[in-house]
Amino acid sequence: MSIKQNVTELLNELPSGVQLVAAAKTMDAAKVVEAIEAGIEIIGENYIQEAEAKYNIIGKRVKWHFIGHLQSNKVKKAVAIFDMIETVDSVEIASAINKRCIETGKVMPVLIEINSGAEEQKSGVLPEKAASVIKEISGLTGIKVMGLMTMGILAGEPEESRPCFVKTREIFERIKSLDLPGVEMKYLSMGMTNSYEVAIQEGANIVRIGSKIFGQRKV
Ligand SMILES: *Cc1c(COP(=O)(O)O)cnc(C)c1O
Repeated sequence: MSIKQNVTELLNELPSGVQLVAAAKTMDAAKVVEAIEAGIEIIGENYIQEAEAKYNIIGKRVKWHFIGHLQSNKVKKAVAIFDMIETVDSVEIASAINKRCIETGKVMPVLIEINSGAEEQKSGVLPEKAASVIKEISGLTGIKVMGLMTMGILAGEPEESRPCFVKTREIFERIKSLDLPGVEMKYLSMGMTNSYEVAIQEGANIVRIGSKIFGQRKV
């Protein structure tokens, strides 16, 4: 199947209100353009240098979401390129993004990454810390917390991720009910190629899909 066919199928299949992020790591600009021409409106990138190269070719005709692990020495470039950073996992990185945004007169929409699989995978804020981290960064005027992101379980059966998605949804609802000033709990980014159907059942409204669009990655 071609990238175009894959995108068309996915866009037909996803319920309205669910945004599709094309996770494009390792895919070259030509492939990304093919996906855009088939209807993709948001590109997800994990690595700043790789994102920058594609951004320089493709530009602002789409939205760019950062979905990798952000290091503080890459914040400047990340703020220049991305429309949303989905993977804020500490007060420190939130503060660094905030500082750069204030310098450049931007407000960056961010999601807080939740480590919902605990042992399985290290990145993200532990579920029990999520509310306190969000409270601590909610006053920063250069960022806007707009929801949560989680990876779930990376290998194995889709059903194995369901408890992670349920847990993240519960945290999402709990924080939403706190009605924190400056926080708008709107997006729940969960689900990848093997788990997006389960994620949508559990309330995801952003799914990040790579291999089902671009084919298997070589690395
Ligand atoms: C690579 C990646 C995806 C997409 O993974 P697929 O299994 O190829 O769909 C989604 N989210 C993140 C954070 C990723 O790094």
